[in-house]
Amino acid sequence: MYIDVHTHKKGSSADIKIINIQVMSGNTDTINGQQHISLGLHPWSIKNNQESKALENLTNQLAMPNVFALGEVGLDRSINTPFETQKKIFAQQLDLANKFSKPVIIHSVRSYSDLLEIKKNYPQQLWIIHDFNGNLQIANQLIACLCTLSFGAKLFQTNSKAYKVFLSIPDDHFLLETDDQAKYDIQNIYQQAAKLKNIPLDVLQQSLKSNFEKIFGAV
Ligand SMILES: [Zn+2]
Repeated sequence: MYIDVHTHKKGSSADIKIINIQVMSGNTDTINGQQHISLGLHPWSIKNNQESKALENLTNQLAMPNVFALGEVGLDRSINTPFETQKKIFAQQLDLANKFSKPVIIHSVRSYSDLLEIKKNYPQQLWIIHDFNGNLQIANQLIACLCTLSFGAKLFQTNSKAYKVFLSIPDDHFLLETDDQAKYDIQNIYQQAAKLKNIPLDVLQQSLKSNFEKIFGAV
């Protein structure tokens, strides 16, 4: 079984895929049409005074049974939106995830230390750090506070931090994803992960199924 924990591609060939939908563009029909989705306000999509509408939509839609996670939401130091604004909207969405007991799919660029600070306020929440690309120390700190790290196309980039750190990530604390990559499908990413970990594909599939079920329940 192939599980794609974070994708923007409705046609992903995974057996189970969590399709990301932007809360501001996700009408009820789009949401109803998918088996597993994540719904949230991405930091790139924060626009003037839309937050309250986005939060209102989230409040109405997060309880839907096919909304498996809040996401992707988070913090990004590479964009112009003021960091304090991003933090405020991130926290408001995390509060909603608490209210509806949903796991959270996190987008983080140059902000892992901020995440670690914020995570202290949400000790029981399950976070998936999508497209993780930090060093081993950060990886271990995140894992220690109920975060699962998700890897994708960077497993093919030998000079990325993700590639360098991947072998040292415990087998029970990671997942795999295609994100918005056109180049790789989830099967390619599983094969590459199995190769880098030097384990048989079926062993990898078994452990990723169990990692997924620990967060989302039995599939
Ligand atoms: Zn994404």
